[in-house]
Amino acid sequence: MIFSHDVVIVGAGGSGLMAALYAKEGGADVAVISKLHPLRSHTGAAQGGIGAALGNEEEDHWLWHAFDTVKGSDYLGDQDAIEIMCQDAPRTIIELEHYGVPFSRNKEGKIAQRRFGGHTRNFGEAPVRRTCHAADRTGHAILHTLYDQCVKNQVRFYDEFQALDLIMTPDGVCCGVVAYELLTGEIHIFHAKMVCLATGGYGRVYKTTSNAHASTGDGMAIVLRSGLPLEDMEFVQFHPTGLYRLGILVTEGARGEGGILLNDKGERFMERYAPTVKDLAPRDLVSRAIYREIREGRGINGKDYVYLDLRHVGREVIETKLPEIATFSRTYLGIDPVKEPIPVAPTCHYAMGGIPTSYDGQVERAGRGSIVPGLYAVGECACVSVHGANRLGSNSLVDLVVFGRRAGIHMAETLRKEGRKKEPLPENPDRRVREMLEDILSRTQGEPVAVVRADLQQTMMDNVSVFRTEETLNTALEDLKQIRERAQRVVIRDKSKRFNTELMDAVELGFLVDLAEVITRSALNRTESRGAHSREDYPKRDDENWLKHTLIYREGEGEYRFDYKPVTITRFQPQERKY
Ligand SMILES: Cc1cc2nc3c(=O)[nH]c(=O)nc-3n(C[C@H](O)[C@H](O)[C@H](O)COP(=O)(O)OP(=O)(O)OC[C@H]3O[C@@H](n4cnc5c(N)ncnc54)[C@H](O)[C@@H]3O)c2cc1C
Repeated sequence: MIFSHDVVIVGAGGSGLMAALYAKEGGADVAVISKLHPLRSHTGAAQGGIGAALGNEEEDHWLWHAFDTVKGSDYLGDQDAIEIMCQDAPRTIIELEHYGVPFSRNKEGKIAQRRFGGHTRNFGEAPVRRTCHAADRTGHAILHTLYDQCVKNQVRFYDEFQALDLIMTPDGVCCGVVAYELLTGEIHIFHAKMVCLATGGYGRVYKTTSNAHASTGDGMAIVLRSGLPLEDMEFVQFHPTGLYRLGILVTEGARGEGGILLNDKGERFMERYAPTVKDLAPRDLVSRAIYREIREGRGINGKDYVYLDLRHVGREVIETKLPEIATFSRTYLGIDPVKEPIPVAPTCHYAMGGIPTSYDGQVERAGRGSIVPGLYAVGECACVSVHGANRLGSNSLVDLVVFGRRAGIHMAETLRKEGRKKEPLPENPDRRVREMLEDILSRTQGEPVAVVRADLQQTMMDNVSVFRTEETLNTALEDLKQIRERAQRVVIRDKSKRFNTELMDAVELGFLVDLAEVITRSALNRTESRGAHSREDYPKRDDENWLKHTLIYREGEGEYRFDYKPVTITRFQPQERKY
């Protein structure tokens, strides 16, 4: 079938819903397609909070927030974009509150704020309370409120429709997407004046991750396959505190409320690595510190984890401010954080890189100003770039709402200026998708998806995680070559039309392989250490050669091209990062 709308948004997490709401309020006819029910989107898992310099608990300023974000990004974030985000954040939070987000309150009845890693007062002096939260269910509260508002405003939802390709005219204008309907197995065309990708992250590239099964980076992979670039893919965030072996997240809010990290000797080891902010250092630093403790034999009982100790914080704070993580810890590990420390280890958490965009979400083809007409991207799948080489905790939710809102407004304004007329559809826009699905369905011999996926996740975990070297990265590339061939031959048992999730698993495996390869190649290409990209064979940051963004293009099977774009510096000159 062909569906027709002014604006088609792919993804119903915080960023997609924010873009949908503002585009709709601006007068556009808006459809949201989502492979999951919107309320199952990963934004619902966000725990600790959303950063904004409201100053409800103590003095705070947007410029302090901007400085922390720039320093946290290891000076790779674009400072003009960061200024937009930090200046816009307080107003956007108030708007969310007015839409109905049930934020926790302080004693004065204002939105409560807590400490988070890398957020400081007065340009690095000491931790500041900047992260607004709804207990430790902030994403859940935001997602539900935005969904209510979208339904109220009559945004059209297509639930359990999975986008598999972009539709581009011969002149390079985006005029729609091809989507697979899970219920019926039908392939549909969405014809649009504008398409906005909001498909979230790719955590499932790694074995241990805080991300949901659906976080397979679809939007990024689709863009790469369309000949467009991805930016800064070497920067993958590992969150320091995943539940040991499971990777399920224990929010940084736990340390914000006073939790501390301990090694086997009972030492609060972060005092050695970050004397000023200690356990509230940024994530790249804390994850590296944990691995160093483990490598030097100070993991708990000589094993590959440390403790997060909340016992001194007390039952009341744990039960009221951190109820979700208390439940996770009891349910999954049988550990009561009121009485025992929680075993934790780093877990793959967030994609700093993604689809390059302007400050209004327009996708860029080759650096600032080179817009792909009709195509937008927002949220974790996009790279505007406010997080640079390392994102600060609570800065993703604010990125979603600030830039989701800006993209929504921009799409509505563009429609008003240019009119509603769409580019005509090219011939056979769904050909590539039909051929891909027919090929998978026709195979009779090969391995199951899960076996190949597990090998992919293992090699990425072993060779492309917190620490990397040329040797480990080359090992990963060798492995990925074989894995790609095996992925192209996987066999599925379910050949039916209805809810064929196995078929979509096979498609997603292809996306994961593509992304694993660009992450690894980009990591091999950047011969320095910066933020979350830690090359043990190039341990220093190298501003002379590498203070620039990477753009990677796929030019054919196994063929890639790199290009670069400058980092925008406005107020804060790069300095050595100390905490
Ligand atoms: C456990 C956890 C806790 C976190 N806590 C915080 C926090 O406290 N503060 C903070 O700032 N950040 C936090 N983050 C990060 C933050 O939650 C995410 O970066 C953010 O929610 C991503 O939102 P999004 O809108 O980009 O995408 P998501 O919320 O991931 O939504 C993606 C959407 O895209 C849809 N989709 C994907 N592929 C397709 C396709 N092919 N076709 C159709 N639809 C598709 C999905 O159905 C979904 O609706 C946390 C992350 C995790 C994993």
